[in-house]
Amino acid sequence: MSLASLSAPVLSRIVSLSVAIANHAGKIIRDVLKKGELGIVQKENARDLQTEADRAAQRCIISSLSQCFPKITIIGEEGDEESKQISGKVYDPTPESTIQVTCPPHLASLGEEEIVVWVDPLDGTAEYTQGLLDHVTVLIGIASGGKAVGGVIHQPYYNYQNPGSELGRTIWGVVGGTVGGMPIVAPPEGKLIVTTTRSHSSSTVTDAVDAVCPDEVLRVGGAGHKVMLLLEGKAHLYVFASPGCKKWDTCAPEAILQAAGGILTDIKGSPIPYQASVPFRNSTGVLASAPGQNHAFYSAKIPQHVKDNLKA
Ligand code: AMP
Ligand code: MG
Ligand code: MG
Repeated sequence: MSLASLSAPVLSRIVSLSVAIANHAGKIIRDVLKKGELGIVQKENARDLQTEADRAAQRCIISSLSQCFPKITIIGEEGDEESKQISGKVYDPTPESTIQVTCPPHLASLGEEEIVVWVDPLDGTAEYTQGLLDHVTVLIGIASGGKAVGGVIHQPYYNYQNPGSELGRTIWGVVGGTVGGMPIVAPPEGKLIVTTTRSHSSSTVTDAVDAVCPDEVLRVGGAGHKVMLLLEGKAHLYVFASPGCKKWDTCAPEAILQAAGGILTDIKGSPIPYQASVPFRNSTGVLASAPGQNHAFYSAKIPQHVKDNLKA
């Protein structure tokens, strides 16, 4: 393993390696699209798709992480079959491509066996197949003790509409530490911009959005992309009153948002658990707020019938 500074805390080393691996997974995602052989497979329903990019990115992420950290538990969206095919696909970053990540003292002594990593190799698959490329992210979320503690969001197509600019960027964060890879921007004052799903809407999703009285609604793909909008100051709230989102969608975004001073919970305002044993589905929905927003105020505005509809 070529990771610099083996004496650094395990969490710092996992986040650092995840940044390099997510960058590489982003290249895999771009290469699959360039080649044009998407290999689309339907999963739970017609709106739930998997492509060769999801599969290949997951193989790379899980094999590379588990080679360096054999004792961590890794759960990937695309299941065990894609996780176990290691066969020469391991990405071993050079010391130059790895970053230094600082770790707050209370997380500095975590051991490998205490860590669960939630991997969404390609968040926003529907949008990827439709050419909405800036909605696509790679999500690597690190949890311990049932809580999100670190995360990496990679945007493989960041700047894709700005020729000449560097393509792709990666953001990382450690809860109680800092966020790297982007400046955090506060959303505009005096108005409320809400972001929500564009491809998985329902009457409860709409009722919850309407209940917070937004001035503007941004319907975009991907949990990662929506939390990026909160970090970039483009939205104040992410509202998703539906059971469709999974732990791998929220773990990395939650950790980074929290490191930036924001909050991500279920729609009732309760924490989302991230132990390896919990159900994958976030059955009680998602509510996330940008740094500085009053999360409890918005959670209280979600209608009771919506909350009753979303049972754990
Ligand atoms: P969206 O905001 O619709 O892009 O969804 C965010 C994440 O949750 C994506 O990974 C979606 O695939 C997933 N998701 C949300 N709702 C559903 C659903 N009804 N069925 C399957 N996946 C869903
Ligand atoms: Mg996803
Ligand atoms: Mg995915």
